[in-house]
Amino acid sequence: MSADGKLVYLFSELNAAESRVEDWDSVRGLLGGKGANLAEMTRLGVPVPPGFIVTTEACGAYQDAGALPDEVWDQALAATEQVEKAVGRKLGDVREPLLLSCRSGAKFSMPGMMDTILNIGLNDQVAEGMSQATGNPRFVFDLYRRLVQMFSSVVLNVPEHLFEEVLTAARRHAGVDTDPELSAGDWRDVTRRFKDIVKTHTGKPFPTDPRDQLKLATEAVFRSWGGKRAVDYRNAAGIPHDLGTAVNIQTMVFGNFGEGSGTGVAMSRNAATGERELEGDFLVNAQGEDVVAGTRQTRPLAELNDFMPEAYEEFGRIAHELETHFRNMQDMEFTIERGKLWVLQTRDGKRTAQAEVRIAVDMVDEGLISQREAVLRVKPDQVDFFLHPQLDPAQAESSKPLAKGLNVSPGAAVGVVALDADTAERWARDGGKDVIMVRPETKPEDVHGMLAAKGIVTLRGGRTSHAALVARQFGKPAVVGADSLEIDLDKRELIADGEVVKEGEWISIDGTNGIVYMGQLPTVVPDLGNPYLLKILQWADEFRRLQVRANADYPRDAERAREYGAAGIGLCRTEHMFFESDRLPVVQRMILAKSRTERAEAIAELLPLQRNDFAGLFRAMDGLPVIIRLLDPPLHEFLPAYDELIQDLADLKVRLQHMHTMSEIDDALDQIRIKQDFLERVSALREANPMLGSRGVRLGILIPELTRMQTRAIFEAACRCAREGVDVHPEVMIPLPAHVKELQVQREALENEARTVMTEQGLEVDYKFGSMIEVPRAALTAAEMAGPAEFFSFGTNDLTQTTFGISRDDAEAGFLMDYIRKGILADNPFETIDPDGLGRLIHLAVEGGRSTRPDLEIGICGEHGGDPRSIALCHRLDLDYVSCSPYRVPIARLAAAQAALQAEGEGE
Ligand code: ADP
Ligand code: MG
Ligand code: MG
Repeated sequence: MSADGKLVYLFSELNAAESRVEDWDSVRGLLGGKGANLAEMTRLGVPVPPGFIVTTEACGAYQDAGALPDEVWDQALAATEQVEKAVGRKLGDVREPLLLSCRSGAKFSMPGMMDTILNIGLNDQVAEGMSQATGNPRFVFDLYRRLVQMFSSVVLNVPEHLFEEVLTAARRHAGVDTDPELSAGDWRDVTRRFKDIVKTHTGKPFPTDPRDQLKLATEAVFRSWGGKRAVDYRNAAGIPHDLGTAVNIQTMVFGNFGEGSGTGVAMSRNAATGERELEGDFLVNAQGEDVVAGTRQTRPLAELNDFMPEAYEEFGRIAHELETHFRNMQDMEFTIERGKLWVLQTRDGKRTAQAEVRIAVDMVDEGLISQREAVLRVKPDQVDFFLHPQLDPAQAESSKPLAKGLNVSPGAAVGVVALDADTAERWARDGGKDVIMVRPETKPEDVHGMLAAKGIVTLRGGRTSHAALVARQFGKPAVVGADSLEIDLDKRELIADGEVVKEGEWISIDGTNGIVYMGQLPTVVPDLGNPYLLKILQWADEFRRLQVRANADYPRDAERAREYGAAGIGLCRTEHMFFESDRLPVVQRMILAKSRTERAEAIAELLPLQRNDFAGLFRAMDGLPVIIRLLDPPLHEFLPAYDELIQDLADLKVRLQHMHTMSEIDDALDQIRIKQDFLERVSALREANPMLGSRGVRLGILIPELTRMQTRAIFEAACRCAREGVDVHPEVMIPLPAHVKELQVQREALENEARTVMTEQGLEVDYKFGSMIEVPRAALTAAEMAGPAEFFSFGTNDLTQTTFGISRDDAEAGFLMDYIRKGILADNPFETIDPDGLGRLIHLAVEGGRSTRPDLEIGICGEHGGDPRSIALCHRLDLDYVSCSPYRVPIARLAAAQAALQAEGEGE
C-alpha cells in the first residue's frame, strides 16, 4: 500500500502521482495506461471530461480483502464531490444530474478485454427529471436502458441474450429495423422490461442509488481483471498477471444527443502501412461502444469534415499534438456532444510490423525520436514478418476474388473456413489444420479462435474494429468489413456473388490488399526489400558489437544468408551433403566396406563431390570466414533402420517361397544378400545410446581416412577458389570433443593433410582450426582446449542436452512442456539459453579459453543463435558472434543491436 495512503487521484492530480514514483512507466503502473494518459491530456489542456482514477494499488487491496476497503471508497466519494464541483452537476440530482462512466484501465492496454459501464447515476427519478430538463426523453431512456444492460451483464452476470431478445421484440413491435428508429416510448418500455429481467434473474431490483451503482461497478472492474477472458489475453500477450487494473471514473459526455453529436476512434497514422495520415471510423448520433462493436456500419473519419468541420479540424490538431507529445503513433477515442469535442482516450497504437518499421524510420526523419530509439522500438520478431509468405502474385492475379474488404493486417493466409471460434480452435489444435476464421464480426470471447487461425475475415467492422486490432497485434493476416459476403450458419456456408464455400473448404486471403479468394492459392516468400526495414537494420549494424553469421550447408543458403547480412558461415554441417540421394549409396558403401581398399575407393568417390560443395560456399562467402564442421552424426544414421531391415528380410523370405521363375528368385536372393550385409553392419554399429556413442570427433579418430578426405576436400576447394581470385577463409571445426587430447590428435592429422594439399597446389591459404564446445568437460577444461583450438563454437543444443542430462526429442515430446506448465522451468532451454546453468558454463569456458589464447574467436551456433533473449545473453557473455539460420539473420542483427543498446543503458 502507498506510503501516503492515497489510492485515488483526480485527473488533475498527475503531479502528485509523479512525485510518488520514479518515472512515467511507474506512473502507468500506478494509474493504468488509460488513466495516466487521461491525466496527461488534462495537463496538456486537451478537452477531457473531468474524472478520477482508483489506482492499481487499490485493486491489490480489493483483491487482498475480497471487497472494496473503506478507505478506497471514502477517497472515491471525496473525489466524486470534486468532480461534481468542477462540472456543476451532482450525482443523483433530478434536474441536473452528473452521469459517470466506470472504465477499466491496466498498465498495458487489453482492448475490449475488461469491462466498462456507461451512464452511471440514472434511476427512475433522475431519468424523469433529465427528460424534462433536456426535453429529450428518447435520448434519456436510451441512456438508461444502456446502463441497465451493461451494468446487469458486467456486475450482475445476467445473460446478454435476454436483453437482445427484448430489443428484437421492441423493433418488431414498432415495425422498424434499427435501434435509432425506436421512439422515446419504446425506450421507456425497453428500460422497464430490462429492469424486470434483472429482478427475475437476480431476485433483487436494479440498484437505484447512484453511489451504490458506482461502488458495485468499481468492484466489478477490479473483479474482471481475474476473469477468464482477461487471463487468456494476458497469457497470449505476455502481460504479467500481478499488475492489476485501475478504474477510471469519468463525467459522461454524449455522442448520442442527436445529429450534431457523434463518437469515433482514430489513429494518428495508418496502422497497416504506417503512412502518415489520420484515419479512423465514426458514427453520428451514437454512444461509445457502438463504433468498436462493429454492429453499425461506420463512416471513414475524413467524412467527419462534412458533418462537423470545426470539431474535425480541432481533432486533427489535437491528434498531432498528442503524437508529438508521446512521440509515438496514437490511437484515440473521441466524442462530440452538440458540436463540442471531447477526447476520451489516447494510447500508443497497435500496428503491423510494416507500420512499426515505417513509423520508426519516419519519426527519426521528423526529429521526434533518435536512431537508437527507432532500433529499440522494432521488436525482433516483427522483422520475421517480412520473411513471411505472400500470395504468389501471378496466381492471385489470375484468380477471381470472392470478396473484398479492408486490408487491416497484411500477409497471406491460406486455410479452411471455420465459422466460429471454437471450431477454428478445434480444427487447428486437434486436427492440425490451417484455418481461416470467418465471422460477421469478432468479440473478445472469439480471441482463442483468432489465435488458432492462420487468418481472419469479418463481414462487418472498420479499421479500428476488434478484429483488426487483435489481428494486427498478433500478426495474423486479416480482411475485415468484407460486406459482400454472407454467412449462413444453418447450412454452415459462406455465400458471395452466387458462389458457395462450405465450412471446411479452402479459401486464401491477402491481408495486404484486403482480397479474399476461393481455394488454396500458392504462396511465395518475399525478399527483404522493404526500404524502411533496410534502414532500421543498417542503423542496428552500427550499434551492435556481436557479429552475425549463418548456419548454411549449401551454396544457395549461403547466398541468401549473405543477402540478409551474414558476416560469414558459423556452421556448415557436412553430413547434410552426405544425405543427398546421389551420395547416400556411396556413403553406405564406405560404411559397409569390408577392406581398407574398398573403403578408400568409396571415400575417393566422395572427395570431388565434397570439394564442389565447399567451393560453392567459399565463392558465396568471398572475403568472409566459413566454418566447416567435420562429420558429426553416428554412422548408423546413414543406414536403414534395424527394425525395418529385419521386417524387409522376413518379407523377402516369405515371398521367395512363392516365386517361380529363376530370374525372380535370383533377384530376390541378391536383395536378401544386400539386406543381410546391411543388417550385419547395422548390428555391429548398433549402440545403446547412439547420441553419446561413436559420433563427433570419435568418428574422425575411428576412421582417419574420413577426416583426411574431408580436409583434402576443404583445402583443394580453398586453393582452387583462391586461384580464381576468391578471398577464402576456411575454419575447420571438430565436433563434440571432451578432452584436449582428442583435439591434438585431430589437429595433427588435419595439419598434415592440409600441408600436403597446399604443397601439391603450390599455394598457401589462411585457415583456422577450432573446436565445438558441446559437453561440460570441454567447457570446464577450456583453458587446455584453447591450446590446439584457435576458435570455439558453442553447440548450444548438444550442450543443453549434456548439461541438463536430457535428450531434446524425449524432453519436448514428454515432460518438458509439463515442467513449463508447472513453472519448474520458466522457458524451454532448447529455445532460450538457460542463463544460470548453461550461461555459467559458457562464461567459464570463455574465461578459460581467453586466458590461454586472448584472441580466441568465440561464438555460438544452433537455433539459440536466432533467439533474441539468447543473443542478449551472448552479448553479455562477450562472445564474438552468433550464428543462426539464414532467415533469422536479420532478426539477430536487430536483437544484437538491442542487446548492445540495453547494456549501454544499464551502464555497461
Ligand atoms: P475499452 O478499454 O474497451 O475501449 P473504454 O473504457 O475506453 O473501454 O470505454 C468504452 C467506450 O465507452 C469507448 O468508446 C469510450 O469512448 C466510451 N466512454 C467511456 N467513458 C465515457 C464517457 N465518460 N463519456 C462518453 N463515452 C465514454
Ligand atoms: Mg477505449
Ligand atoms: Mg552437436
